[in-house]
Amino acid sequence: MLKFTDYDIVFREIPDEVTLAINLSNCPHRCPGCHSRQLQQDIGAELSGDVLLSLINRYKDDITCVCFMGGDASPDDVCRLAAVVKRDCGLKTGWYSGNSHLYDDKCKAVFDFIKLGDYRQALGGLDKPTTNQRLYLIEAETLHDITYRFLRRAI
Ligand code: SF4
Repeated sequence: MLKFTDYDIVFREIPDEVTLAINLSNCPHRCPGCHSRQLQQDIGAELSGDVLLSLINRYKDDITCVCFMGGDASPDDVCRLAAVVKRDCGLKTGWYSGNSHLYDDKCKAVFDFIKLGDYRQALGGLDKPTTNQRLYLIEAETLHDITYRFLRRAI
């Protein structure tokens, strides 16, 4: 089961998209220097399909994308909800995963964007040239590394 703690409309996490970013808890990673330690706990409200659609309906005129922030403890549920967004809402979908590798090839069919990589404080986040994290645009089930979009902004 997925739980979320909060959400926000953001502009930087997915380039060129206005994104409803939903913070998911129960993160299985233990990144040293974690920037969101509360998300390591099993807290928050259940993110069911109905709850997700209700959230999206509230903001659908203002957003172009829905991004799941975390959820690596229940990757099948993240993929299932992304498929609901694609099928019922006509919005783009993203996933900020802390995994180093794509969870499953089926992700390619339900996400337009996937961030991969744990957070390593010494290397920095996506806007640092040293980062280990990558953001991919997925087109025709092919991953294109667009991490450079963050680096340009940082210059
Ligand atoms: S993936 Fe994110 S929330 Fe999870 S431990 Fe790492 S930095 Fe914290």
